[in-house]
Amino acid sequence: MTNRRVGILGGTFDPIHCGHLDLGQAAASALALTDIVVITANIPPHRPQPVASSHHRFAMVALAIAGVEHWRASDIELAVGAPSYTTGTLQRFHESGLAATEIFFIIGTDAFAEIETWKDFPAILDRANFAVVSRPGLPARDMPGRLPAIATRMVTARELGSRPTPLIFLIDATTADVSATAIRHRVAAGGSIAGLVPDAVGQHIEQHGLYSSSFAEADTHRTSQAGRLHGQD
Ligand code: ATP
Repeated sequence: MTNRRVGILGGTFDPIHCGHLDLGQAAASALALTDIVVITANIPPHRPQPVASSHHRFAMVALAIAGVEHWRASDIELAVGAPSYTTGTLQRFHESGLAATEIFFIIGTDAFAEIETWKDFPAILDRANFAVVSRPGLPARDMPGRLPAIATRMVTARELGSRPTPLIFLIDATTADVSATAIRHRVAAGGSIAGLVPDAVGQHIEQHGLYSSSFAEADTHRTSQAGRLHGQD
């Protein structure tokens, strides 16, 4: 049987941007991933909602990775009618035949810093490896200090090898200094987002009038309440 090393890159992707693609590529090259599955999150109804619909968010993910070898867009979380959490998504991957050690959940340092609030923490750390990539301003090497209770599970990608249990891989890489929030605000202000998102995503945003000034008020409301996906109730 082939040695599979499957990356899962989850996010709200409101919209997907070049930082997300850099994140996936950094993990893929540091950990020799064989596939990357990009999963658009389904935000539970009681949580602040994304600005674009799940249909548009998924469409933008598909456009962003069209033709990129070994990457694919998954609607696994959108297809379930109920709130979805990362722990449940990982369970679905296990049921499809992947072992926890074959799965690498790819995540930026800002999101991983909140891991202790996720549903099924700390057991979730046994359900997949975590590939934690620096986000501008928050280096991966700061993670042991930020999360001392789980620091013993953290290793660098150089320590990659055949392991019986999942680990937390810290990957110091440079990714585009961009956020979905900044992109939405820039569009609402009538600015250009060329170079911040793949061209096809920029065209989709323009063609469908996403994030135009009429979205701005809803977005202010959303970001002021910002909670994270993955698990807090
Ligand atoms: P928002 O500004 O709406 O919060 P975002 O840009 O943080 O959005 P998400 O969809 O919330 O995007 O993020 C999905 C994942 O991508 C998270 O793990 C996050 O840490 C990571 N990520 C987002 N932007 C970057 C970036 N520029 N560099 C590295 N990781 C990133």
